[in-house]
Amino acid sequence: MKALLRKRETLLRRMNGCSEFLRGSITSVCSTCNRATCICPGKSTKKAYRLTYKDAGQKTRTVYISRAQLPAARRMLGNYARMRKLTEELFEINIAIFKLKSKL
Ligand SMILES: [Zn+2]
Repeated sequence: MKALLRKRETLLRRMNGCSEFLRGSITSVCSTCNRATCICPGKSTKKAYRLTYKDAGQKTRTVYISRAQLPAARRMLGNYARMRKLTEELFEINIAIFKLKSKL
């Protein structure tokens, strides 16, 4: 039991480290025509980035990402994947603790 609780503490600390997360996917569009497949006559190469995600009501939402924020947004998407993995690990530990408690 003690080992499980210790493991739980470690996991919570690791979760704290990736609590700054974003969910969704980053897509790029042409910054002039705003389309994924550019239709501009001169074909501008300048790209704009956006984050697309589904809200609690399953409605698709789009948030503009500035070029300066792009690395942070990518890092935060990675944090979401780590957070999900840690949540699964935490669940396993919680189940183990729950089973132990039911035997007491
Ligand atoms: Zn365009």
